[in-house]
Amino acid sequence: GIRPATFGVLRLPRSVVVGAQQRFAVADIAAEFGTNVLVCTDPRLAVSEELKALVRSLEDRDLTVRVYGDTQAELPTPGILDCIEELKGQEIDVIIGFGGGSCMDMAKVVSVLLTHGGKPSDYYGEFAVPGPTKPVIALPTTAGTGSEATAIAVVSDPDLGMKMGISSPHIIPFAAVCDPELTYSCPPSLTAATGADTFVHLVESFTAITREPTHTLATERVFVGKNILTDSIALNGIALVGRSLVTAYKDPENTEARGGMMLAALYGGMVLSNAGTAAAHAIQYPVGALTHTPHGVGVGLLLPYVVRHNFQSIQPQLAQIAEALGRDIRGLDERAAAVAGVEAIDEVIAAIELPPTLKDLGVQESDLAQIAKLSLNSKRLIDNNPVPLDLAGVTSIVHAAFAGD
Ligand code: NAD
Repeated sequence: GIRPATFGVLRLPRSVVVGAQQRFAVADIAAEFGTNVLVCTDPRLAVSEELKALVRSLEDRDLTVRVYGDTQAELPTPGILDCIEELKGQEIDVIIGFGGGSCMDMAKVVSVLLTHGGKPSDYYGEFAVPGPTKPVIALPTTAGTGSEATAIAVVSDPDLGMKMGISSPHIIPFAAVCDPELTYSCPPSLTAATGADTFVHLVESFTAITREPTHTLATERVFVGKNILTDSIALNGIALVGRSLVTAYKDPENTEARGGMMLAALYGGMVLSNAGTAAAHAIQYPVGALTHTPHGVGVGLLLPYVVRHNFQSIQPQLAQIAEALGRDIRGLDERAAAVAGVEAIDEVIAAIELPPTLKDLGVQESDLAQIAKLSLNSKRLIDNNPVPLDLAGVTSIVHAAFAGD
């Protein structure tokens, strides 16, 4: 059942547009800001028919288009500075991020640097961006990171050997334009990895710790946390994943499933940016650095183990997840309904054929202590976990995820 509204805050893009062919709305949105448009994309998408059509639609609107087509996956910081160097002396009024999370995050960071100067590391952490930035229009081609709706950009910093986040309400895209047709070309492995990312955003946000509502949470410089608004969106997103992810993976041509996942990814971004994720994300950062596994594969693999660790504290939410994923929980007591939720989560992860254990990613048993220790560095994510986590807690999760217990 739906609880009466108690407290809620959401920070979102000014415009959110969803639907087939809506990518052609981008030219009109961009024209609001001036005539000089930068498109950030990656080498694969730079030569795609979809990019050519986007550029044509912008030029037909008399906009001057510059394409930066060299964004690298996972967004290494030197590439961002190369882009800024190439743009020296150019006037840019609006930036379009066309691609997966890497390209959308590129657009966000480029917008920060073009507006405020400096280098990416000047803005790591929360609320370090001093003010508004050039408008970004996010056009995702994966479903997905949800970056189109988030206040976050994730970069890979080779000097630190880590992924680092820039988090600020100023980098929420002005517009998120979610056209599922752009994801039709995703091969099954990419659909699985990016769809798992979406699923984990939704489940971790829905099961995150609930903070006491205070009036300061509504101000822009405070991290919001799970609330009644993020809960409704997350639960709808989980239901969409339940109906769409496995079909999109097995039947890439299924337009209904692609549309469902595009929407689910957007919902995942909306909640991730406001409620925040937790332990699966904290543990994935060192795992990803060690194994170079795609982010979605790592978080998806970890989710069942994290959910089991958190079980005692999230039984009501797991029961709701069970229902959202289509389980009939009538007549079950709360614990049995929660077990059904865990099983339903397992089933989604198994059906998209992610590797089941950390061992399958090439992690060695001798790496586990270091992974556990480094996970605790993501303090905000660790603090957002519904069960308080210390070194012993994270160690027990990584050992379970290694052995498949
Ligand atoms: P990606 O952007 O790194 O792209 C991965 C590969 O998929 C690339 O080779 C790309 O060309 C290809 N690809 C993209 N769309 C395609 C399509 N339609 N058809 C065929 N190939 C396509 O992948 P991603 O998973 O979307 O993004 C990952 C990045 O996003 C990571 O850096 C991650 O940390 C970050 N991320 C950011 C946020 C946020 O809120 N900003 C949230 C989650 C993850």
